[in-house]
Amino acid sequence: PFKQEADLNELVQDVAAMMGEATQEMGVKIETKLANTLPLVNFDANQMKQVLINLVKNALEATDSGGVITISTSAWEDQVRLSVTDTGKGIQPEIMPQIFNPFFTTKKTGTGLGLAVINKIIEDHNGAITVESSKDRGTTFTISLPCQS
Ligand code: ADP
Ligand code: MG
Repeated sequence: PFKQEADLNELVQDVAAMMGEATQEMGVKIETKLANTLPLVNFDANQMKQVLINLVKNALEATDSGGVITISTSAWEDQVRLSVTDTGKGIQPEIMPQIFNPFFTTKKTGTGLGLAVINKIIEDHNGAITVESSKDRGTTFTISLPCQS
């Protein structure tokens, strides 16, 4: 992986712009809530872009028309955090332990690889990923990445 010190906010803005058309077509709004200043973190921009795209795709697939997807960034202690929240159908607690497994999918034409790939990329960046979800209220995936300073 090609890691470079960079601004996660910029990446978020790129991806939000990129996914804007697809979300709009589905009647879903994409919003960003960005930290005013974010410490630079070391990451592979292409890989991290893929992470964010996969999270937004999953959010979109879980959310009905009228819903909202929010991408937010924040700095917390020596970490930078990135989260994707949707107002979609939520993840049932019974399947929660399996969602990061390769090939696990609840979709007719899903590959079940999105979260497995994300997990690998975040591991390669010494980061962590957590998920919180409640039925019919939505889901938040949060990624934390260590900053150098
Ligand atoms: P795929 O999208 O191909 O099914 P993923 O690895 O991206 O594979 O996701 C695995 C499973 O996790 C999905 O099939 C779905 O059941 C669940 N999931 C992931 N993200 C969300 C989300 N935002 N809302 C509801 N369920 C989700
Ligand atoms: Mg997916």
